[in-house]
Amino acid sequence: MDGKALAARIREEVAREVEAFPRPIGLATVLVGDDPASDVYIRMKHKATVEVGIEARDLRLPAETTEEELLALVSELNADEGVDGILVQLPLPEQIDEGRVIRAVDPLKDVDGFHPVNGGLLLAGTPGHVPGTPLGVLALLDEYGVELQGAKAVVIGRSDIVGKPVALLLLHRHATVTICHSRTRDLAAETARADVVVAAVGVPGIVTPEMVRPGAAVVDVGINRTEKGLVGDVDPGVAERAGLLTPVPGGVGPMTIAMLLRSTIRAARYRLKELAHPAA
Ligand code: NAP
Repeated sequence: MDGKALAARIREEVAREVEAFPRPIGLATVLVGDDPASDVYIRMKHKATVEVGIEARDLRLPAETTEEELLALVSELNADEGVDGILVQLPLPEQIDEGRVIRAVDPLKDVDGFHPVNGGLLLAGTPGHVPGTPLGVLALLDEYGVELQGAKAVVIGRSDIVGKPVALLLLHRHATVTICHSRTRDLAAETARADVVVAAVGVPGIVTPEMVRPGAAVVDVGINRTEKGLVGDVDPGVAERAGLLTPVPGGVGPMTIAMLLRSTIRAARYRLKELAHPAA
């Protein structure tokens, strides 16, 4: 499943929508500190944002920023008419309570979909903003015609950012969903029965060929930096057994950014009241 190609198409669509939009659309990204991986992610997001014609504000704060200072910036961005979407890059330095910052973002501007209001709406089946990576996973499965209704889907990982929202999106599409995690007794027995496997773990090659049913669709969300470079959670040998597999890099990664751009347009539509946010 070629995420790079699908993401490129989505970015073109977004660029056309941005051009047709009645006013400029703005996305503010906030990076606290100088974590090298976060810096790379923010740069990639910023570049993609500018390319589709969204006005990007790349806000950087020093590593020693206090929680109060960050909350003050979030509150300014919430009130700023020129800002449709706000993204605070995680993880935050340890002196800052991430949950408090996430809860401070206006749910209508919460393009990452991390605010508990947006999480609750997703749980209720009436989504507002949804995190980009899970949206990207579903978009890839749809693009490749993977039947979800009645399918057995196994999600490995239960984070609020990937595992749980992916599982909910699959459930809303009528898959029979199993969520696995570090205490799952027999992971291989779970995955071996699955029509769809989504691996969001952060352990290189944890999904091996014998764990996958022949013909299954396998989505590799993992991004692991190793001596061999960037690798996923799925052993490359799975390609021999799976019907469909996403590569790393070039699979879910580019989709996450494309979906963020889509969510930014959605945020602008919420603010223009072209679309009703379910909690507004
Ligand atoms: P996370 O918060 O660390 O969650 C990892 C999950 O994997 C946890 O639920 C954990 O279980 C589970 N797990 C750990 N070891 C396991 C094992 N041996 N067997 C079964 N489950 C195990 O990570 P995340 O933020 O969800 O990210 C997961 C991966 O996706 C990472 O590699 C990350 O870099 C990548 N990622 C990629 C994108 C993208 O755009 N492609 C976006 C976000 C994340 P417990 O809950 O029991 O601890």
